[in-house]
Amino acid sequence: MCGVFGAFSSNHFVAEEVYLGLSALQHRGQESAGVAWIDSGGRVNAIKGMGLLHEALSQGVLAETPAKAAIGHVRYSTAGGSMIQNAQPICANYAQGPVAVVHNGNLTNFNDLRSTLESRGAIFQSTSDTEAILQLLAHQPRRRPFEALLRALAEVRGAYSLVVLIEEGLVAARDPWGFRPLALGRKGDDYYVASESCAFNLLGASFVRDVEPGEVLLINESGMTSYRLPVKCERKWVCSFEFVYFARPDSVIEGRSVYRVRQEMGRKLAKNCPAAGADFVASFPDSGTTAALGFAAESGMPFEAAVVRNRYVGRTFIQPTQKVRELGVRIKLSPSPELFRGRNAVLVDDSLVRGTTAGLVVSMIRECKALSVHLRISSPPVQYPCFYGIDTPSNGELAAAKHSQAEIARSIGADSLCYLSKDEMVEAIGLPDNSLCTACFDGKYVSAHDAECSSSHACREIFD
Ligand code: 5GP
Ligand code: SF4
Ligand code: MG
Repeated sequence: MCGVFGAFSSNHFVAEEVYLGLSALQHRGQESAGVAWIDSGGRVNAIKGMGLLHEALSQGVLAETPAKAAIGHVRYSTAGGSMIQNAQPICANYAQGPVAVVHNGNLTNFNDLRSTLESRGAIFQSTSDTEAILQLLAHQPRRRPFEALLRALAEVRGAYSLVVLIEEGLVAARDPWGFRPLALGRKGDDYYVASESCAFNLLGASFVRDVEPGEVLLINESGMTSYRLPVKCERKWVCSFEFVYFARPDSVIEGRSVYRVRQEMGRKLAKNCPAAGADFVASFPDSGTTAALGFAAESGMPFEAAVVRNRYVGRTFIQPTQKVRELGVRIKLSPSPELFRGRNAVLVDDSLVRGTTAGLVVSMIRECKALSVHLRISSPPVQYPCFYGIDTPSNGELAAAKHSQAEIARSIGADSLCYLSKDEMVEAIGLPDNSLCTACFDGKYVSAHDAECSSSHACREIFD
């Protein structure tokens, strides 16, 4: 998971706006950040750094950068390690001029692409799959970049929400399956694209619509033009986990408010898994709070902010080792003994992956002398890995892949455990079942055949 942002204006400089847009997408990646633009000499420039946005980049420098189009990225590594070489934007000045790319998602045919490209002389500078897109462009040295990009995208498979900067303008592209979100915003004649619509709010821009799966937008002095990739798919695969966890609750994806969806998930959980006799509902903040509010509203129990989050500590998954991850939860979440002592609590979280968070928080609540703790998870058990841009652990580490619900409840120390079913989750999201990806819950991945080029000419020519 990563956050991408792009801005184009015909009358003012936008690099600082890209920084601000990225600040609203920081929840999508905390490992590195970067911004790129094309300078007056027609060369691509970028600043990148490791860590949170303010650690990685200087807002002051960007405020003085004379660029009317710029793109930016916050990274959470899923393909390729955590190192500065893999920080985005990935940039080059090649035969047809400058190019910079930011990408959210994972290319599922990256290994094949890489070996084909390497056999043709490509030298990869990073281990990131995004570089393959740049190499595909460079291998079409006689085509203008935009056309070369369309042809390159017809070759790649898997998940990509991309923003690209070339001399012809700012480009936004979303894979034909629609895995990762990508939103279009506008303020007057200025255009913005962002992983999530929440990034437009702070810039005073309005959210226009999602970039459609398989759509490519070219934005420049002539305005915005929409193109379609020559790839046909059977159906959409919008990531259901964006609604469960990744997206910010003030974003709208596929016309659905993430906040409302999470609230509905909590309501459904309360209907089908009530915890009769409990005194109150609490959440694992922040990710479980919206669903907990829905649970409380449906059950009639009060919601209490009984688990406190240290807001200066980032998302726990960011820490690389199990040891640090476990400490991270303790540093981050802290139950209030006064609220739990002698009471029966329902605890709601959005998801249970390894079981680390729930196990530690429940044991801390037990130390507070709670009478009982009923765990409610507002998504189905995560049983399968994600190949489309989320860093889910391998099967062996997923609690629900190895253990029954009763075993998980026992190992976590909860008096009861209940998950939302897949059907309830899909109903809460409110989009047709066959337009959502639910692979990490049910193991149904896109079949290798679900993508064919409507114009094989455009698709094969790069490698011919
Ligand atoms: P667990 O502790 O069971 O391994 O993970 C579940 C917790 O991690 C939940 O509180 C959920 O909000 C959060 N979570 C789930 N998926 C991800 C992810 O991909 N990245 C991060 N940072 N947190 C996640
Ligand atoms: Fe989203 Fe899960 Fe599908 Fe990955 S496998 S795209 S996390 S729904
Ligand atoms: Mg959480």
